[in-house]
Amino acid sequence: MGSDQALVHIFLVSFPGQGHVNPLLSLGKLLASGGLLITFCTTESFGREMRKATNIVDGVLTPVGDGFIRFEFFDDGLDDLKRLDLDQYLPQLEHFGKELIVRMLRKYAGENRPVSFLINNPYIPWVSDLAESLGLPSAMLWVQSCACFSACYHYFHGLVPFPSETQMEINVQLPSMPLLSHDEIPSFLHPSTPCPFLRRAILGQFKNLSKPFCVLMDSFQELENDNIEYMSRFCPIKPVGPLFKLTKQTNSMVTGDFLKADDCAAWLDSKPPSSVIYISFGSVVRLNQQQVNEIAHGLLALLSGDELEVSFLWVMRAPASEGFGSDKIDLPDGFWEKAGDKGKVVQWCPQEQVLAHPSTACFVSHCGWNSTMEAVASGVPVVAFPQWGDQVTDAKYLVDVFKVGIRLCRGKAENRVISREEVENCLRDVTVGPKAVEMKANALKWKKAAEEAVAEGGTSNRNFKAFLEEVRTGSALKASPTV
Ligand code: UDP
Repeated sequence: MGSDQALVHIFLVSFPGQGHVNPLLSLGKLLASGGLLITFCTTESFGREMRKATNIVDGVLTPVGDGFIRFEFFDDGLDDLKRLDLDQYLPQLEHFGKELIVRMLRKYAGENRPVSFLINNPYIPWVSDLAESLGLPSAMLWVQSCACFSACYHYFHGLVPFPSETQMEINVQLPSMPLLSHDEIPSFLHPSTPCPFLRRAILGQFKNLSKPFCVLMDSFQELENDNIEYMSRFCPIKPVGPLFKLTKQTNSMVTGDFLKADDCAAWLDSKPPSSVIYISFGSVVRLNQQQVNEIAHGLLALLSGDELEVSFLWVMRAPASEGFGSDKIDLPDGFWEKAGDKGKVVQWCPQEQVLAHPSTACFVSHCGWNSTMEAVASGVPVVAFPQWGDQVTDAKYLVDVFKVGIRLCRGKAENRVISREEVENCLRDVTVGPKAVEMKANALKWKKAAEEAVAEGGTSNRNFKAFLEEVRTGSALKASPTV
């Protein structure tokens, strides 16, 4: 390992969300381990939570392999309540982000550590503009599936018909993809979405798609082969996933969790193989009390049966202090008397470890793309409980394309409470019977494919190494920096 001043310096900017931070941080650790200096940057509000949950100290260089990683945070100038209104927040984030990041880059240049490359993830497409205006090359890490990338691309360019105000329920046929019904396209692209600002934010990246030198993707060739091949005709895509698995090669303990994880290892160790139902809806989705009650009763019905010896591990995040997600959600009265020692509820867990544990039987998931990749690459069948955004498309793929999942709901747009009977039936189907055997076999097949993709000589491994080389040797550095 050389002096950090001699290393090529890459600046990573993440949208402040757990599902965005995790894959970009994995990429950052990989690049650091390849002998680069990585500065990982997101907002101070997210950084505050990361500092509380992990041992991150701002600005400190942490060795990873042959290089270093460090964290820097910038103030988005808003109080917590204003941040909840994304319609107002995203332009503010751009306004403050652009100014403060330029200041940081100038500071590094003054310290003799000039930045030579920028990488961002979706919702902050202005990072590509910033890079261009400074004469720096950039790349974008797409943190959803290639199928969703294709959907956004075709929507943005008006290449195929999508549901509209006058035709809300039409199906969508995208090249190299199964027919998607109107509630299986990423929900932000549907005219009925309550979050049109997220559509604007995500499509902003497609307006800027010629600016990044390439689009890195947290997927792998074998998983989405047809989509990746098709979309590569229009854009330089490099699949480098599953990043959470590829990054294990760095042996780095650095994490970017925004909540402190409860240790679940001893509890999982005490359970028989393939006997634990893991339930988590990611870092944003919050189910209402009525839906939580139904899931709880569905679980109890399954636990009380004689034919199965199962337990459950349920992630229930504490309510937010104010605004969205601040309602307190409880388990129904008498739940623990009936569940006994067959269950554990935690506020946050080390999900990758839970999915990799031999006691884990299945995953009741909201189907965020990180959770989807982690389940698929760990060989764990999924009970799909999507709510919005790309989750509904991921659920379609898990169930109908990867064939490792069973569908429990179709999304928030369905606007109904999923009953305890449906919950119980789905849980039974995913744990016993011929369907369960088939899903587990498919899941193990994908696990093997993911392992091969990240292993030496595998598709993602090779793509990552080529990217590292391009960044390290400067062959991607088209222009000289002006900062
Ligand atoms: N996660 C975790 N512990 C938990 C719940 C989630 O570490 O208790 C991680 C999970 O492994 C994944 C991320 O949080 O990497 C959630 O991302 P995803 O895309 O699945 O969903 P989002 O939170 O963006 O909706």
